[in-house]
Amino acid sequence: MPFAPPRSLSPSKVSAFTECPLAFRLSVIDRLPEPPSGAAVKGTLVHAALEGLIWNHRPGQRTRRAADDELEWAWRAMGSDPEFQGLALSETEAEAFKADAKTLVHNYFDLEDPDGVDAVGVELGLEVQIGPMRLRGIIDRLDRNAEGDLVVVDYKTGRAPSARYEHSRLGGVHIYALLCRELLGRAPTEVRLLYLRDPVAISAAPSAQTVRGQAGRTTAVWSAIERACSREDFRPRRSPLCRFCNFQAMCPEFGGQPPPGPQV
Ligand code: SF4
Repeated sequence: MPFAPPRSLSPSKVSAFTECPLAFRLSVIDRLPEPPSGAAVKGTLVHAALEGLIWNHRPGQRTRRAADDELEWAWRAMGSDPEFQGLALSETEAEAFKADAKTLVHNYFDLEDPDGVDAVGVELGLEVQIGPMRLRGIIDRLDRNAEGDLVVVDYKTGRAPSARYEHSRLGGVHIYALLCRELLGRAPTEVRLLYLRDPVAISAAPSAQTVRGQAGRTTAVWSAIERACSREDFRPRRSPLCRFCNFQAMCPEFGGQPPPGPQV
């Protein structure tokens, strides 16, 4: 019996399927439980602090002290989060976790002056139907620049990619440009990734051609997912990313066997 395709596609699902169709199936379609990721939880914490810094404070008040207050608030809220609790951090580990998040938040100030930010929205959920595909994404921040043009900003808490992988990492942000074009009637003139760890900013200027190209690539990924579902054919794709995969024990590349597909 064929697998049911996911209801919608997001930038993270596009990269998950592209990186390894089998891992995509086990995570997105089968929804097998995965252990909480400390990196993802820390990312949520840092995002919440930066969102609060920009959205809750006027230009002129977006100081490191204000960012620390926002981080403190987000940290308290995170205490009851099941993902955070699942990390089961000791007191010392929790302190180190929070201190590292604070370093990332402070690194943000090396990348831009928050008082110069004119944000149209933060944590902006966009969803649109393009042909047979429902595309959705959450934009960390949508800005208006001095010329009145839109700029998409995405915070990253991992390391910046090497030049070799830079283009593929920008792919996800180009999907945000596509979402803006479809929903707001115009694409941003710039997409910017702020890598807080390094810290370094990578930016690109989407053109009508790159947005059209992204629409084509995303539709092709959606078709490939539908095809894999109907043929029940999700192949493993071995790569250096395998060492971070939660499904090695079920992967034929590592001597395992995936669970059977949907039963009649
Ligand atoms: S171990 Fe590698 S090849 Fe196997 S499912 Fe995970 S990512 Fe894919």
